[in-house]
Amino acid sequence: MTLDVKPKKRLFIGLLVFTCLILFVFIFLLWYVPMVGLKNIHPSFPLFYTSILAVFAVLMLSGGLLLVFTIFMGKDIFLSQKLRGIVAKVLFPFMILMGRLVGVSRERVQQSFIELNNHLVLSNHHRTRPNKLLILLPHCIQDFDCQVKITGNIRNCKGCGKCEIKDLIELSDQYQVKIAVATGGTLARRIIVDNRPEAIVAVACELDLTSGIQDTYPIPVIGILNERPNGPCINTKVDIQKVKQAMLDFLDPHAS
Ligand code: SF4
Repeated sequence: MTLDVKPKKRLFIGLLVFTCLILFVFIFLLWYVPMVGLKNIHPSFPLFYTSILAVFAVLMLSGGLLLVFTIFMGKDIFLSQKLRGIVAKVLFPFMILMGRLVGVSRERVQQSFIELNNHLVLSNHHRTRPNKLLILLPHCIQDFDCQVKITGNIRNCKGCGKCEIKDLIELSDQYQVKIAVATGGTLARRIIVDNRPEAIVAVACELDLTSGIQDTYPIPVIGILNERPNGPCINTKVDIQKVKQAMLDFLDPHAS
């Protein structure tokens, strides 16, 4: 997978810069307003208070710069694993809020987050053995009229070829990788607990991918958006080549 800075990621970075600017103004006000009052309580309080706010501002600035450099350079400079957690748990909810403020839809921010997450995962060069890699698929990829129950055991698929489940099973067989189908977040969590993967290639819509990436942290997840030519949640598709590339990005070429 190429580590280029695509427009979707730029959206997240833009919102991040905007958030930083707002936070700096906020920190300034937090510093300026109580300064007069603190002086009256004790002469050393203003210095103490300024130091705390300065440390916070420096941490925020260094974190933001580290994130931007990691994205642009495409490699793990420092703490990219931790950065991924901060992006997923802290920054993403902020970015949704900021996006709403400047008129960017939730879906676009989610797409941007997924790309940014993939980028950070790739920067970190996570490698694992095939039996520790899981391909997790949404149920809506199965042909709507298919009577076979593949949740619980995807191997029930008869391989008729009406949907991409057949190709995805073949891909998992070729590389000896685990594969499963989930109908929602609860089942996805159970599959992850049962299989204990060290890395996941997940296919889903924006909403399920973002919540999945957040929930499964620190397990590295490469998220691939499904295609929805028939509308959401019915007969969805996925680019098999993207799934294969994501798998290869995770697989250790030297592992037996
Ligand atoms: S490929 Fe498998 S899951 Fe898809 S329609 Fe055929 S039997 Fe059903």
